[in-house]
Amino acid sequence: MTQQEIIDLTEQYVLHTYNRFPLAIDRGEGVRVFDTEGRAYLDFMAGIAVYALGYHYPGFDEALIGQVKKVLHTSNLYYHEPLAKAAEHVVRSTGLSKVFFTNSGAEAIEGAIKAARKYAFLKDGRNDHEIIAMKDSFHGRSVGALSVTGNAHYQDPFRPLMGGVVFADFNDLESVKRLVNDRTCAVILETVQGEGGIFPAEPAFLTGLRELCDEKDILLILDEIQCGMGRTGTMWAFSQYGVKPDIMTCAKALGCGVPVGAFVLNEKTAERSLVPGDHGSTYGGNPFAMSAVNAVAEIFGRDRIVDHVQRITPYFTEALDSLMEKHPSVTAHRGAGLMQGLEFNGTPTAGQVAAEALRRGLLIITAGHDVLRFVPPLIITEKEIDEAAAILDASISALEKP
Ligand SMILES: *Cc1c(COP(=O)(O)O)cnc(C)c1O
Repeated sequence: MTQQEIIDLTEQYVLHTYNRFPLAIDRGEGVRVFDTEGRAYLDFMAGIAVYALGYHYPGFDEALIGQVKKVLHTSNLYYHEPLAKAAEHVVRSTGLSKVFFTNSGAEAIEGAIKAARKYAFLKDGRNDHEIIAMKDSFHGRSVGALSVTGNAHYQDPFRPLMGGVVFADFNDLESVKRLVNDRTCAVILETVQGEGGIFPAEPAFLTGLRELCDEKDILLILDEIQCGMGRTGTMWAFSQYGVKPDIMTCAKALGCGVPVGAFVLNEKTAERSLVPGDHGSTYGGNPFAMSAVNAVAEIFGRDRIVDHVQRITPYFTEALDSLMEKHPSVTAHRGAGLMQGLEFNGTPTAGQVAAEALRRGLLIITAGHDVLRFVPPLIITEKEIDEAAAILDASISALEKP
């Protein structure tokens, strides 16, 4: 099919919930994708922070194919080695205690919410518990996850949502303290806000939340679905703050293209929350998805992917600083590791820059607050950073001209 035929057929039959870029991707290789006409694009969005290892990383395909030939699915009524290994890996890497695997990020959030409510229920028998979430957050599109997503545009058409959620200001500890009462069972936040516009939690905010939660036996839930898996220079972003969550969620890069997520609980939460009958998933933790988690884990360890993120981050940061210095339309630069954002003043918008960059061979996406969002594959090199920066420089220049 031609690119236009693919676009037309898609728009005819697929429910229009996405305004897609006019590009039909045929295949990927390394840090590039190719459209159906064979044109190459440098990929600085990585399937929205999914393709941490780029496309066809050595050994990854082989691991998946090996599992395809053994068994794809067993249900959760039997044991299998891929699950046992993946669970050990995820739990050890977080320093927490037990994991439940899901098929997506939103489902990981759903599980975290249920675990937190059950923990509080077992403690005081009430069923009117509250969760404190953050404004400008993003936790997913299912009703529970949407209920803790602090974005009126996403929420309003779907009310009534799940009750018992109140919203504080991100990076404002006092605003959280004001909302705490004897019904509060959890505080949920992204360690680095992604969709909201790339806002890292400030150290004093996160350590303050940890103290507050410890003092009141409130569970701290950190959503590392986007910022986890080495993206900020440590396997999990929270470890840079010297705090540990009671529950952590992950997904996106966990399977590097195979749909999988997880929520991970510390010992006290795992011991006193979900029990048989409380939660489940037909596909969750299936052998195929777990083979991806295991392959990704092996590659991260063997090839020291997180070390590479640390090494390349200063170069990447400097490239984005230069773009901001040169272009008056870029008003702010924020982020951590290979999760960074440039904020625009509206002329041009980040969206216009992303569209122009696509025409010039670069895939890049936006986030809230008119931000151009950089979440490239973690294996990106200096040469590719130069290439992306040159395309963006030219794109912004072309759009800044009156
Ligand atoms: C993408 C994302 C989610 C939702 O994940 P899905 O797999 O799309 O359901 C939740 N939280 C954060 C921080 C995300 O970036």
